[in-house]
Amino acid sequence: AMRVFSGIQPTGVPQLGNYLGSIRNWVQLQTRELEPGRRHEQYISVVNLHALTVPRDPQRLRRETGEMAAALLACGIDPRRSVLFRQAAVPAHTQLMWALACLTPVGWLNRMTQWKSKLQATPEDPAPPALLTGLLTYPVLMAADILLYQATHVPVGDDQVQHLELARDIAAHFNKTYKRRVFRAPTAILTASRRVMSLRDPTRKMSKSDPVEQSRITLADSDDQIRAKIQRAPTDSLGAVSFDPVARPGVSNLVSIYAALRDVAPHAAVAELGTLNNAQLKGLVTDAVVAAVAPIRDETRRLLRDPEHVEAVLRAGEDTARAAAAESWAQIAECIGL
Ligand code: ATP
Ligand code: MG
Repeated sequence: AMRVFSGIQPTGVPQLGNYLGSIRNWVQLQTRELEPGRRHEQYISVVNLHALTVPRDPQRLRRETGEMAAALLACGIDPRRSVLFRQAAVPAHTQLMWALACLTPVGWLNRMTQWKSKLQATPEDPAPPALLTGLLTYPVLMAADILLYQATHVPVGDDQVQHLELARDIAAHFNKTYKRRVFRAPTAILTASRRVMSLRDPTRKMSKSDPVEQSRITLADSDDQIRAKIQRAPTDSLGAVSFDPVARPGVSNLVSIYAALRDVAPHAAVAELGTLNNAQLKGLVTDAVVAAVAPIRDETRRLLRDPEHVEAVLRAGEDTARAAAAESWAQIAECIGL
């Protein structure tokens, strides 16, 4: 059977890149077949263990975990079609992580770029924190998340492709070590807008934990906040709108956001936008973003007034996930001699 697995960290309000790069794909995969005539199951995890890699206040983590679940439901994650659960509710994630860590060379983790970019100094945060073991081994936990459910497909943004490659390498290495085909290699599923860039610095990706609020549009922003952030996004004075992410990162990011929301390729969007000036472009992008975000924002607010409902959805998902994980972990534990 085919299985989709993906996750999102409860590290703040989801931003437009999470939505266009991942969440919207998860919603669409609930009603779309991966291959004609073949059904699949989908597991979506609020990965609260991953969120610990950047130290955070316990109350805030708990609150943001619930808020993330509410936001995902508001985006259209349907508990009848997706198993939605908190990672820490399923102990086998950490058990498998340990087993995988014990056969993953540190050199493989040293090659990963994400922990390096998370430690980069910024004008707002000139003294980057020390590299913690958890941040370095984050990709091993992610491999465990995916392999535990024998996922065949992993819809992610392209910042996670390197980690997914590592998961494939770890799976192959495990099979070779134990001379059994325990794990199969998961495949990435990317969207056209695989990397939405920051509205402050269009050479960095948009992130929900970026300390600069102005850098992102969140799924909780008011129409006015969206308008103001897009208004201040950097562009250039190279004339008519075109799509060239290298020479025109700011303008191209706006084109790419617009194209994703209209479900067309960036070059097709340019045909429509090519005669506009920057102010007109920003106006159209703002309208498209507001149209997408406003209903999600309002539905999230409604769900946050009913935390018992969100909690019940998560608990039901966790029962299903624990059962699937326990079965899989029993086989792995048997294989490695535990
Ligand atoms: P954080 O800053 O805490 O790392 P994040 O915004 O990077 O938060 P994650 O929880 O790390 O979000 O990732 C959730 C999903 O969103 C992943 O599939 C990731 O690839 C995707 N994603 C994150 N940022 C972007 C982006 N700017 N464009 C497209 N996809 C993205
Ligand atoms: Mg991230």
